[in-house]
Amino acid sequence: MSEAKHCVAVIGGATAGAEVAAGLAAHGALVVVFEQNPRPYGKIEDGLPRWHVALRKKEYGNVVEKLGKPGVHFVPNTKIGRDVDFGELVRDWGFGAVVLANGAWRDRPLPLEGADEYVGRGLVYQNPFIIWFNHADEAGYDGPRFVPEDGVLVVGGGLASIDVAKALMLERTRAALAERGIEVDVVQLEVKGIPKILKGHDLAFEDLGIEPCTIFYRRDLDDMPVVEIPEGAPPERAEKVRNSRRRLLEKAMDKYRFRIEPLCMPDGLLVEDDRLVGLRFRRTRMENGRPVATDETFERRGPYVVSSIGSIPEAIPGIEMKGELFAFTDWDLGRLEAHPTVFAAGNVVTGKGNIVASRKHASFVEERLAAEYLGLAERTTDSVGTDESAQATTKAVDAALALKTPAPAETVEALLARVRARQDEVGYGDDVAGWLERVTPDDLQ
Ligand SMILES: Cc1cc2nc3c(=O)[nH]c(=O)nc-3n(C[C@H](O)[C@H](O)[C@H](O)COP(=O)(O)OP(=O)(O)OC[C@H]3O[C@@H](n4cnc5c(N)ncnc54)[C@H](O)[C@@H]3O)c2cc1C
Repeated sequence: MSEAKHCVAVIGGATAGAEVAAGLAAHGALVVVFEQNPRPYGKIEDGLPRWHVALRKKEYGNVVEKLGKPGVHFVPNTKIGRDVDFGELVRDWGFGAVVLANGAWRDRPLPLEGADEYVGRGLVYQNPFIIWFNHADEAGYDGPRFVPEDGVLVVGGGLASIDVAKALMLERTRAALAERGIEVDVVQLEVKGIPKILKGHDLAFEDLGIEPCTIFYRRDLDDMPVVEIPEGAPPERAEKVRNSRRRLLEKAMDKYRFRIEPLCMPDGLLVEDDRLVGLRFRRTRMENGRPVATDETFERRGPYVVSSIGSIPEAIPGIEMKGELFAFTDWDLGRLEAHPTVFAAGNVVTGKGNIVASRKHASFVEERLAAEYLGLAERTTDSVGTDESAQATTKAVDAALALKTPAPAETVEALLARVRARQDEVGYGDDVAGWLERVTPDDLQ
């Protein structure tokens, strides 16, 4: 027979979700992690490009270890909003709290009227492109396939767009070498760089006759966030960072042979025979740290356009949105006005595409939730945010909710039966390691 317990649902089992789950379970809560995919690696599997071999392996291990902790119940292949209703999960299952750790899985739409009509006909979005790049060599991959062609246009400027450009150049070079009967490994090509590998075959990049891809970026080259400028940095320090950004980018362009066209933004679609064949760009200039549109325009054509302008959370029916984002009223703990027992952790609330940032935020949310809401632990961290009004609201709500008692034994029993039924439905056995062994192909990158 179960005993009274605080029960928490976590939506999303990757970096942030696993961190929250293990932390709360260590504090004595019963945690159920719902994950839409068979494997809980999130953007580590489907974002972080596959040349990060050691980091990927380490992070896979981290997630598995945390989801395997006593008190954590893993429910794979279960998408909240499709397989389980969000409102029901919050109200009816018996959970005292629900933590959204569902990341950002939707590409921000290219802001040109009608652009999305050309998806698959000249327009490609970053998320499916990187998923293909990461999985294309696996026998079981059945998603969309992209051909690394000459002169692809990449719209972006963030770190992920540099990864897209690198992936294109690595695959294009690999294909050109394969035509000459030379097989190279993409990871080796990334580690050593294209010119070095070619030199080993007595070739220069120009010998391959490849037309590089180009990233079109609305700011200047030294605005690209390849190195962060620390908050409040004095002008000389900021200038130094800007210089190192330029140097790093020049090095990357040399090593992977992509190009960057700064100071321009997409302004119109070039369509021929019902296919996107390029874009019209508007020249920008930087004014007080912001790109401002000018009167000058120019056109560029290419076999396809990859839009890499950021990822946003996928909407979940029952959660209110504000524009592209969830309508959080407290951005420290990711709280929603209509659902006072819901919190959010990781990329879904930080918006930062960074593993450490997701994990740190998740740990902060977990500790606050355990200490102030569930009364399971001492609070050990300060707020990561500075918005005093948000903190005041949070405190008021926390104070009210802290009185909540653990779910009674019968509720825990019923909740576990419901979890077990869903686990049986998706064919999950008894433990996360055994499940992962069954659903991980031998050739998973
Ligand atoms: C191209 C690219 C390159 C990157 N490179 C780096 C890098 O070099 N270094 C670095 O630190 N970071 C990098 N990142 C970012 C990093 O991978 C992510 O920021 C981090 O992994 C996010 O972790 P998370 O747990 O917050 O979110 P995610 O990893 O997105 O996890 C969310 C989880 O929730 C699940 N989910 C979503 N919706 C639902 C639902 N409705 N129901 C159930 N489950 C759901 C998802 O399947 C997923 O498992 C990169 C990202 C990209 C895209």
